[in-house]
Amino acid sequence: MTYDVIVAGLGAMGASAAWQLAARGERVLGLERFDVPNTMGSSHGVSRIIRLAYFEHPSYVPLLRRAYEIWRDVEARVAEKLLFVTGGVDAGPETGRLVRGSLEACRVHDLPHEVVSAVELERRHPGYRLPGGDVAVLQPDAGFVMCERAVVAFAGLALGAGADLRAREPLVAWETTSSGVRVTTSKGTYEAGRLVLSTGAWIGEHVPALAGKAVAERQVLGWFQPKVPARFALGAFPVGIVEHGDLLLYQFPVHGVPGMKLGVYNHLRETSAADAVDREPNAADEALLRRGLRAVFPDADGPTLAMKVCTFTNVSDGHFVVDVLPDTPEVVVASPCSGHGFKFASVMGEAIADLVTGGRSRLDLGLFRLDRLAP
Ligand SMILES: Cc1cc2nc3c(=O)[nH]c(=O)nc-3n(C[C@H](O)[C@H](O)[C@H](O)COP(=O)(O)OP(=O)(O)OC[C@H]3O[C@@H](n4cnc5c(N)ncnc54)[C@H](O)[C@@H]3O)c2cc1C
Repeated sequence: MTYDVIVAGLGAMGASAAWQLAARGERVLGLERFDVPNTMGSSHGVSRIIRLAYFEHPSYVPLLRRAYEIWRDVEARVAEKLLFVTGGVDAGPETGRLVRGSLEACRVHDLPHEVVSAVELERRHPGYRLPGGDVAVLQPDAGFVMCERAVVAFAGLALGAGADLRAREPLVAWETTSSGVRVTTSKGTYEAGRLVLSTGAWIGEHVPALAGKAVAERQVLGWFQPKVPARFALGAFPVGIVEHGDLLLYQFPVHGVPGMKLGVYNHLRETSAADAVDREPNAADEALLRRGLRAVFPDADGPTLAMKVCTFTNVSDGHFVVDVLPDTPEVVVASPCSGHGFKFASVMGEAIADLVTGGRSRLDLGLFRLDRLAP
């Protein structure tokens, strides 16, 4: 069967792209190795932080503004609340990378924000207990997106716009032809004009330029029963990131499932092939999360309620890869999101659709070029 576009990998990025492409009238085939949604990739675990004060680089902010707009559009289309604005906290030493980077994004893009002391943060949001000298940047637009629900929303919109989505059918190989691409899956062969590769932690298996450069890193999320529940409720506890010694913590109010949610960026720094990631949380995972909990959120230090393993796909500079494959204009690569991509899934669908249909996007994707990773 012949399509205009095949999208391989229906996590956040692929499902969003499948919708945007189908909505533009493209005949889309979406292929997913596992289920839609699934717990094997990077897009599960109930919620993901979204924030404007982007400490990683100020140039993400225009994309974020568009991401917020599209999230609101998706919510309206599916009649479901996906984005919860809680306000956000970026806290730690004043001279640390997080506070400095967050303030830089606020300065460059004139974002509304406040800088408060540890004492003042605790007065306003008593769930947070920072060391005395730390400061917090408060940015009112931050919040979280319900991640599995968002993938479901994108997939539903894609189907509604006529896309053909097939789960449990992995791409096995692809090649270019005189008219586009030929994709072989576990079940058959398909032809299309263009191919989007959005296979997350598996991307290096399909894109030689990313083999060994897009690295899977095991992460573990934990949900904990607060000892003082009111301090971690939606409305009382803003999402946030805290730089605390060697830990970069990220945390969410109770919502969707029981417990306050906490993660440690990069967790135990365990990298491997995507298929070799140990999917079972263990005692060392729990001990690391509890160390962070006790240090900064002692009132949430109750029994563990849930833990989940998830995977980052990192490239060396921590930015994304969203680009047309050099020398192969039929193929768009859109995946390694280095542990902070989910919030952009809405706008990335639009950017990927631009690249597929026009070879370029009106959004600035300069930071995400593939050739920056060349040796
Ligand atoms: C613990 C954790 C916390 C995070 N926190 C945040 C956060 O707070 N905010 C934020 O913005 N981001 C966050 N991120 C990052 C964000 O979740 C990811 O950047 C995003 O989910 C990546 O989406 P993706 O579609 O690229 O990958 P995935 O969701 O992994 O999608 C890739 C899909 O491709 C499929 N696939 C693989 N091989 C094949 C094949 N051969 N054929 C067909 N399909 C295939 C996979 O099964 C998978 O479903 C976090 C990530 C993790 C793991």
